[in-house]
Amino acid sequence: MSQASRVSCGSRVLRCARWSIVATAGALLASDGAPSSRAGERRTRGLPSLVRGFVRGPVVAVDAAAAPAETPPLYQPVGVPATLEQEFARKGFRRDPRTGNYLSPKVSSKTLSEMLVPLMLGGRYVKDLRGNPIFVRETIRTKLQAADAAMFEKKHEHIKVTYGFRSNLLQYELYQQLNGHGKVAPAGMSFHESGMAVDLSNWRDAQRFMIEAGFVGGCYGIEEDLVHYSINEITKASNAEAFKRCTLKEIPETILKGMKKTGEVVSLGKLKFKGKTKR
Ligand SMILES: [Zn+2]
Repeated sequence: MSQASRVSCGSRVLRCARWSIVATAGALLASDGAPSSRAGERRTRGLPSLVRGFVRGPVVAVDAAAAPAETPPLYQPVGVPATLEQEFARKGFRRDPRTGNYLSPKVSSKTLSEMLVPLMLGGRYVKDLRGNPIFVRETIRTKLQAADAAMFEKKHEHIKVTYGFRSNLLQYELYQQLNGHGKVAPAGMSFHESGMAVDLSNWRDAQRFMIEAGFVGGCYGIEEDLVHYSINEITKASNAEAFKRCTLKEIPETILKGMKKTGEVVSLGKLKFKGKTKR
């Protein structure tokens, strides 16, 4: 099996007033955009950064025509249980300061040192199948939005992301739940835990656009699952054969038939609707 797997992050939408200020500032820090306006800059110069972010928040929303009124979700690290942390330390896993997750050396070395940001597609913040906001690394968001724009132009359909980043704890729980029933990466060894992978529900339609945007996936090369797309997980240098197979713009019929035979995706789909998460 491969190392990666999937699921959601455990973050929650922030609701109280205090945190909405932090969320606004966080969104500004995480945003790709330049300062909203020079006037806004002058008006808020000299204020503490958090307050400055709060004051400038509405200006940003006005400037970005497509931005919705909803507050951007802010990533909040989920604590790692002490026993798990000890195990990670014993294995030599490294703590990613951006997310709080421990990652295996292999995953860690391929993880971009970027902010974890909420994913917006089609003008809305995307939620996973558990109802939690989906977070990814900035580069993943940029590529996903490029793929989504291209797909929407051609098919008038948005890319549907079901899972993005997940915490060590969630990965651990999934491993406990699903080990033996599916291929599950142990905690610290999934590209979902690095924020570098997403799962899609409409992957058949999205395949071409995801590949063109720079993702590798939609194949049996990564964790034997067609819904999984990631960056850096399989490269030409690390596995030329798999890379070639996982960058096809059209999924070969033979693979689609193989998927039906194994029934993995279908059975995992049922799990999702029972409120459980798949790998
Ligand atoms: Zn996945």
